[in-house]
Amino acid sequence: MSAKAKPDPLAEVAERYAVAITPAMDALIDPADPHDPIAAQFHPDARELQTAPDELADPIGDDAHTPVKGVVHRYPDRCLLKLVHVCPVYCRFCFRREMVGPPSHERPRDGTLSGEDLDAALAYIESQPGIWEVILTGGDPFLLSARRVREITQRLAAIAHVKIIRWHTRVPVVDPLRVTPDLVAALRCEGATTYVVLHTNHVRELTEQAHAAIARIVDAGVPMLAQTVLLKGVNDSAEALEALMRGLVEVRVKPYYLHHLDKAPGTSHFRCSVAEGQALVQALHQRASGLAQPTYVLDIPGGHGKAPLASPSLRESNEDYEVRDRDGAWRPYKD
Ligand SMILES: *Cc1c(COP(=O)(O)O)cnc(C)c1O
Ligand code: SF4
Repeated sequence: MSAKAKPDPLAEVAERYAVAITPAMDALIDPADPHDPIAAQFHPDARELQTAPDELADPIGDDAHTPVKGVVHRYPDRCLLKLVHVCPVYCRFCFRREMVGPPSHERPRDGTLSGEDLDAALAYIESQPGIWEVILTGGDPFLLSARRVREITQRLAAIAHVKIIRWHTRVPVVDPLRVTPDLVAALRCEGATTYVVLHTNHVRELTEQAHAAIARIVDAGVPMLAQTVLLKGVNDSAEALEALMRGLVEVRVKPYYLHHLDKAPGTSHFRCSVAEGQALVQALHQRASGLAQPTYVLDIPGGHGKAPLASPSLRESNEDYEVRDRDGAWRPYKD
């Protein structure tokens, strides 16, 4: 076969899945390091073309719980509202990789909610008095203008039973200058309390500019949490996890979840085993403050929700219990 006729696997990846990186992330990559943890997250890789038999287009079962376009209502007291289907970067392991990205041959429909879709989604939320919290996700909702963010915040806060508005975003690390004072001001509104949950996977993402963006949000009175995906070759060591979690706590961001990687197609080269994940969270427990401990969770395939995965630290022994201490030793406990 001539070199010309050879299919380019990276072009094939780019045709199948969205590809993008921001200047802020690009600047962090060491081109001399073939195992750079930032490059691994955003540079397409030929291994993405290999879909394992158990990998799913909708790995966490969003579709099973979608009553109206853009809403995922799986738990009685909270729902997701997916406003946009685009992101400033495309993570190669994204759990919604079949849905996110600009419209293309593979994704002909633009998933961004139209004005009518948004009206219908808000009408659904209003009709469900059990919904206490609305989680804005996507895509990355911090790509919206400050004006749109303000409008959505005000409309949600006007619904009497919606008390919590939670934004899930990667923008404060991947495009920190987008976190403008206007955007931050638009997050808060009388009638509901706002939280921001940051998706970040490596301590090097926490640049000076990211620190400043986080400070703008927290200084405005908006508490921040973080979610991290456990990724082979990016953060699958006790040292990497410890550095990231300490880095977050130091800038007033509380680690919330450490996600076991969802089974999205073409992501198996990023996946740690559950046993590896359990050993890592045990090691993190041994090494770092309680403030630096996220909950290690799995989103059960098929839409059955999240479940904690850390190995249990309580076991029955004869009539009583044994409890595992931070160093792994089992201590007796009488109930
Ligand atoms: C993850 C998720 C939530 C939020 O769960 P928390 O445990 O409250 O963070 C809500 N709805 C859906 C559909 C989810 O996947
Ligand atoms: S930022 Fe989130 S939604 Fe966007 S590509 Fe990354 S994981 Fe997917």
